[in-house]
Amino acid sequence: TTRVGVRRNLDGEQVRPLKLCIIGAGGFIGSHLCEKLMWDTHHSVLAVDVYGDKIQHLLAPGKSWSDRIEFYKINIKHDSRLEGLIKLSDLVINLAAICTPADYNTRPLDTIYSNFIDALPVVQYCRVNHKRLIHFSTCEVYGKTIGSFLPADSPLKKDPAYYILKEDESPCIFGPIEKQRWSYACAKQLIERLIYAEGAENDLEFTIVRPFNWIGPRMDFIPGIDGPSESVPRVLACFSNNLMRGEPLKLVDGGQSQRTFVYIKDAIEAVLRMIENPARANGHIFNVGNPHNELTVRELAELMTDVYCKVSGNPRPAVPTIDVTSMEFYGQGYDDSDKRIPDMTIIKKQLEWEPKTPVYDLMESTLTYQHTTYAQAVKKAMSKTLAN
Ligand code: NAD
Ligand code: UDP
Repeated sequence: TTRVGVRRNLDGEQVRPLKLCIIGAGGFIGSHLCEKLMWDTHHSVLAVDVYGDKIQHLLAPGKSWSDRIEFYKINIKHDSRLEGLIKLSDLVINLAAICTPADYNTRPLDTIYSNFIDALPVVQYCRVNHKRLIHFSTCEVYGKTIGSFLPADSPLKKDPAYYILKEDESPCIFGPIEKQRWSYACAKQLIERLIYAEGAENDLEFTIVRPFNWIGPRMDFIPGIDGPSESVPRVLACFSNNLMRGEPLKLVDGGQSQRTFVYIKDAIEAVLRMIENPARANGHIFNVGNPHNELTVRELAELMTDVYCKVSGNPRPAVPTIDVTSMEFYGQGYDDSDKRIPDMTIIKKQLEWEPKTPVYDLMESTLTYQHTTYAQAVKKAMSKTLAN
């Protein structure tokens, strides 16, 4: 209906307009997915979330896509409208979750309920009503690498067999129960197993996505500006906040953990391929990440500092980082994934997808967004605190 003509899938077949029920549509990933669907496709969205702020720009009346998106302010924990919306749609995408590490060890019950119990009815409604489900899991289901248990000087640590994470081969390795960090990974693992079993025993058509640190604009919140001042968001927002406040970036337990970062816009392209290519995506679990963009958290802090100075024109801070223990920063029960490099074989083969954006470029556009969106408000909040 907008600027898009006929869409074809990877096999050259015409893709008819689909109605998608997106749960968690108002979050970071949801907002980018809705944008992509509105701007570049003819599909329609029933957008479900408790918050709609991040998709307000899509919901404003009078847009060329206005007849293709409807927002439902629904908490899926207790709202009888959910099944009706699923019945109306061709495909369900479930993004809803508590997915911020600071919550895993401090709010383990909420974390487990959100990631397992609350996802359960969604799976059941899809099975009963014969709807396809794309469920968002996490790379964290892999937990720690096998290599993390080797002695520090072992040459095997350099062998990819000990750290590359493969959907169909790698084990899921979590710490003990008292390390409540793993409450999230464990809940996500169990819902994956349940969905997989629904596929095997009841023919549920499903795709499971394991995101590997997707980052970009609108990720999380800046404490005290558009989120609670005492809350701890994921690392991109923590470091952005530190940089805008001119305070040192906090490196948890030495900043030695490694992550691979993928640009949200690259990752959304992979999700669109899953949506439009059911025959290639059904029954699969997909790693979605960028294996070439690996950094330690310390290197991430250095990169973000360099890029932020460039985009803001601010001088380099005298003390760019400080070390904090995980006990101080997250409290008891925190633990960490040591290294996360996704194997890309399956997604490359099934969906012909590869990430494109190098880590410097994705950081430059993301920090430009952070600076233009928040820097003034942060300055204002800081001068108010000083005045008081
Ligand atoms: P997000 O927190 O920005 O989005 C989640 C959205 O779900 C939020 O808008 C929240 O309001 C909504 N939600 C939560 N509980 C709800 C409920 N009961 N009813 C209605 N809405 C509810 O997080 P995100 O980064 O967009 O992540 C989306 C999904 O991807 C999550 O399942 C997460 O576990 C997974 N994931 C993301 C990443 C990443 O790199 N961003 C990594 C691993 C996994
Ligand atoms: N981290 C950090 N300082 C911060 C925030 C996070 O050193 O201010 C570390 C955290 O301990 C982890 C990594 O950054 O090793 C990534 O954290 P994030 O919250 O983004 O989520 P994760 O990748 O662990 O799921």
